[in-house]
Amino acid sequence: MVSQNQVMPAIPKHVPLYPDATIQEIDSCLHKAWDAFSWLRESPPALRRDLLYAIADELTGLGDNLIETAEKETSLPIARLRAERSRTIRQLTGYADFAAQGKHLDICIDTKTATSPDIRKMNIPLGPVVVFGASNFPFAYSTAGGDTASALAAGCTVIVKAHPAHPATSLMTAGAIIKAVKKMGMPENIFQHVFGAAAAVGEALVKHPLTKAVGFTGSYTGGKQLFDWGNQRLEPIPVFAEMGSVNPVYLLPGKLSAETEQVASLYADSISLGAGQFCTNPGILIALDNDCTKKFADILARKLDDVQLSEMLHAGIRERYDVLRNEALSQKGVSQLTTRELTEDIKRKLTNPGIPALAMVQADDFLANPVLHHEVFGPYSLLVACKHMDQMKEVAAGMPGQLTSSIMATEAECLMHQDLLNEIRLHAGRIILNAVPTGVEVTQAMHHGGPFPASTDSRFTSVGPDAIRRFVRPVCYQNWPDNLLPDALKNANPLKYPRMINGNMSMKPITG
Ligand code: NAP
Repeated sequence: MVSQNQVMPAIPKHVPLYPDATIQEIDSCLHKAWDAFSWLRESPPALRRDLLYAIADELTGLGDNLIETAEKETSLPIARLRAERSRTIRQLTGYADFAAQGKHLDICIDTKTATSPDIRKMNIPLGPVVVFGASNFPFAYSTAGGDTASALAAGCTVIVKAHPAHPATSLMTAGAIIKAVKKMGMPENIFQHVFGAAAAVGEALVKHPLTKAVGFTGSYTGGKQLFDWGNQRLEPIPVFAEMGSVNPVYLLPGKLSAETEQVASLYADSISLGAGQFCTNPGILIALDNDCTKKFADILARKLDDVQLSEMLHAGIRERYDVLRNEALSQKGVSQLTTRELTEDIKRKLTNPGIPALAMVQADDFLANPVLHHEVFGPYSLLVACKHMDQMKEVAAGMPGQLTSSIMATEAECLMHQDLLNEIRLHAGRIILNAVPTGVEVTQAMHHGGPFPASTDSRFTSVGPDAIRRFVRPVCYQNWPDNLLPDALKNANPLKYPRMINGNMSMKPITG
């Protein structure tokens, strides 16, 4: 039961079709998750790999039914949803393979010497993980998304709180995971799924004493709230929240004058992609205040005026976009460069159109006004015009933590402005040269995270197999005989894992 010392919130009643979990249900979920964890944490890694592969198969087996359900709930195009499901499947199988090879265990062995005992270290799973998905990625960052895949690969049990913007999609996905768990003959509570349109459901899940970590993708407000709850507990827990970002783009004058039209095309596409509903959307462009920048701004504005409009995810996200964009546009010194307005014709064709907007402001006004530094989630970007390169560096220095920063520059400019590049690197998790920030590859070298407020722990990524490391912790065995050690640490290396032995990476057994 819930500890007497822990203050749990009351949960109001909500929508009957997808009823919010009650406090008793949440308590029961966590106890079941804890029981299942005692089995999962001891299970062979190869079996966990097979589970993730089985989940991938079940997701594929849902076929067009899943895609059509997601389309109805999110308004995202079918092609995009198909691609996102493929990516989700690649995440599941890729993380499964990585963990089955023991790569996330970071095994380190210092054998006994004349002066020190035998010391061996490896990672172990944390315990039940609560996952909150994002509305803009119904598959890849939701129920069977990266957080669920990495927690299961680590050996943690999972409870997903469905995103209220796509409950049916979440339920179908959860059904596929539950089916895979059953087919594998594993304890059924390895994975559980709850609804919760009320914030109190999230609060109860995060504050439950048996929750050992949280994975979140979404807004700054949501992520920071969960992070605070995680830290207010009697036993604070890690809350890995990947939040919004403005993803600044630094346009250096040599590159911009040489390729004005091309850079404008590249960024018109990136700003308007998916109605701007990406955490990596380029929300702030920074350039010198000169004729070339004015020409670039004009071309970019015309291209944005001409892009094909698309639906935003839901009415709430569109209303929020309209409010935040209008607030930004009304700030001192801000002028709008795009001209497209909401017309009756657009209203007839689209329910929640995301109308692209490009605005411009002088760096002096930008630096003095924190409102202009906030994310406007949608197809919006603000061009900041700097008086000189020192002011561009000042803008970079004032940037809050970012998922990404991009630099459009010639090689000579990169070499000439090392101090600017070093400043930019200080504030971002991924730095991109002569390309756009939208599109996050799922590879081991990827880092999707960044200094606060882009994420709550800049040391970890939520994309790529290294995301598994969020849900493990090191434990060190000192002075243990070989036969009592876990297989991963035994001299013979029966699992054939890569290990750091006395300072050298090796998969060989320890002899002598
Ligand atoms: P969101 O509104 O924060 O929702 C995410 C999840 O958190 C939902 O389940 C939501 O449930 C819950 N939540 C939000 N606020 C809460 C609160 N105060 N208390 C308890 N639970 C709370 O985010 P979204 O609308 O889905 O996504 C848009 C945002 O996500 C943008 O800012 C975007 O930049 C960011 N994003 C970031 C990444 C990344 O990788 N960093 C990726 C995609 C999107 P309720 O709806 O019931 O509150």
